[in-house]
Amino acid sequence: MALIEFEHVFKHYPGSPSAAVDDLNLHIEAGEFLTLLGPSGSGKTTTLMLLAGFEAPSAGAIRLDGASIESLPPHQRNMGVVFQSYSLFPHMTVAENVAFPLSVRKVAAPIIAEKVHAALTKVHLENLTHRKPNQLSGGQQQRVALARALVFEPRLVLMDEPLSALDKKLREEMQLEIRRLHRELGVTMVFVTHDQSEAMTLSDRVAVFNQGRIEQLASPKHLYDAPANPFVANFLGDNNMLGCTLEQGRQSGAGSVTGRVRTADGQTLQSRICTTQTLADHAAVKLCVRPEFLQVATDAATLATSNCLSATLLDLIHQGDHWRLVARLTGLRSEGAMDAPQWFAKISPGALPAGLVVGQDLCLGFRPEDAWVF
Ligand code: ADP
Ligand code: MG
Repeated sequence: MALIEFEHVFKHYPGSPSAAVDDLNLHIEAGEFLTLLGPSGSGKTTTLMLLAGFEAPSAGAIRLDGASIESLPPHQRNMGVVFQSYSLFPHMTVAENVAFPLSVRKVAAPIIAEKVHAALTKVHLENLTHRKPNQLSGGQQQRVALARALVFEPRLVLMDEPLSALDKKLREEMQLEIRRLHRELGVTMVFVTHDQSEAMTLSDRVAVFNQGRIEQLASPKHLYDAPANPFVANFLGDNNMLGCTLEQGRQSGAGSVTGRVRTADGQTLQSRICTTQTLADHAAVKLCVRPEFLQVATDAATLATSNCLSATLLDLIHQGDHWRLVARLTGLRSEGAMDAPQWFAKISPGALPAGLVVGQDLCLGFRPEDAWVF
C-alpha cells in the first residue's frame, strides 16, 4: 500500500472559474523523493497544502496508510513543512526555532535539547544555535527551517520551493544537502519546484503538473527520454517542434514503434511514434527533437541519417562546452507558437562544420530513434 493516496481529489477556490486541483490521482510511496514540477499556477502548492492539511479538498479522498486524513488537523498529520519564505520566528534563536514543534507537542525539556542538537547537527548548524534568524545567511536560514521540519521525526517532509530565494550556486549546494538528508534519514519527501533541473537533481519520481492535473509521473530519466506528450517534452529539457502529418495511424499501447510523417512541404521523415494515445491515419501530429540530438551539415550527404530538414543559419553562439546554433526551417509554415519553424541545436565543438556564416543554408539531421511524434 502506498504511504499517501490522493483519489479523485478536486480543489475549487471560491470565486475561481477553474479548479486549482482537477481530479488528482497520486500515490506517494514510503521513503521516496517525489517532486511536483510545473509552471506557476498549475496547482503544486495547493496539492501540498491539501496534503499538509492547511486546505481541505472540495471532493475526493486523501489517505495516509490507507486511512482517510481529510478531517485531521495539520499538527496531527506528522508532516514537517518547509516554505519558500523561511518563515522562522524572528525573535527566537536558532535553537528556539527548531525546538518550537517539540514545545507545542509538550515534549520534556531534556529531550527537546537532545533532539534540537541532533537536528541542527544534521544540517551542519550546531555551532550557530544562539543566533537570531537575521544574523544568518539565506542558505543558513533555510537549513534552520529544514531542521525545524525534521526535528519531530515526521513521516513526511513537504517542501514548497524552499530554495527559490537563493542564488544559483547556493541553491545547487542545498540541493545536494537535501539529497544527502533524504538518503541518510530515509524520510519520505515531497518537494515542489518550477525548476526542471532542480526536479531532475533531487527526485526519484517527478509529477509534471499542468492546469491542476498531472501530465506524467515517472523518473526524471523516463520523463526526459520518453515524454508522454508535447507539454512534458517542452517542460523538461529543451525541445524543437514541428507540425506534421502521420502517414499511418497507430493504436495506443502498441509499444515502441517507428513510423513516417510528412512535413507541410512534402518531405518524409522517420521518427518514434508515441503510443500513449491513438493516432489516426493522416492525423495532425507534432514532431519533437531535442537540440542535443540534431546533427548539422552543409551537405545532406554527409549526415549520418536520411532524416533531413533544410534550414537557414540565423545565429551561432559559443556557450563554452557547446555551440548553440539557431536556424529557421525553410519551406515550412508555422502552426502556432509551440512549433515555430525556428529550431536550435546544441553542437559539441568537434562536430561543428568549419566556416559557417549567418544566412547560409544548412541541413539539420536526426536519427529516427532520437525523435518523437505525438
Ligand atoms: P502553483 O503552486 O503551481 O503555482 P497554486 O496551487 O498556488 O499553483 O495555484 C493554483 C491555482 O489556484 C492558481 O490559478 C491560483 O491562482 C489559484 N489559487 C491558489 N491559491 C488560491 C486562493 N487562496 N484563493 C483563490 N485561488 C487560489
Ligand atoms: Mg506555488
